[in-house]
Amino acid sequence: MSSDLEVLQEALRGSGQRLTPQRMMVLSALAEQESHVTAETLLDLVRLDYPYINLSTIYRTLDLLVELGLVAETDLGGGVRQFELVGTHPHHHLICQRCGQTVEIGDDTLQPLRDRLQSHYGFEARMDHFAIFGVCKACREG
Ligand SMILES: [Zn+2]
Ligand SMILES: [Zn+2]
Repeated sequence: MSSDLEVLQEALRGSGQRLTPQRMMVLSALAEQESHVTAETLLDLVRLDYPYINLSTIYRTLDLLVELGLVAETDLGGGVRQFELVGTHPHHHLICQRCGQTVEIGDDTLQPLRDRLQSHYGFEARMDHFAIFGVCKACREG
């Protein structure tokens, strides 16, 4: 078990939520992913250990985790909901609309914008997980 996972379980408990086996399974399956996954992919993974879980349980668990800010839900294009743990790793994505390539960028990239919105407008922006669409370097040059 990774320490990231322990931090997440602690956050879940701290918010007054019970750590049911289903929630544990969804969290640990998410923690093992390198990138975004769909609910259907998670269902397949969790089912290996927990055959009786169904898709609506997966969605309910994901919705809860999104609400708690532990999981980000993003449409990375194509209208498919994708999920990913962000509790311990804030980041954003650049998505090329021509070739579909995605690049992950660090949260610090958006910090100047956040600071400016705060100082100029007194606005505290919540920018947890951005999908920024555009055209990548290879497509622009090619
Ligand atoms: Zn992401
Ligand atoms: Zn491209």
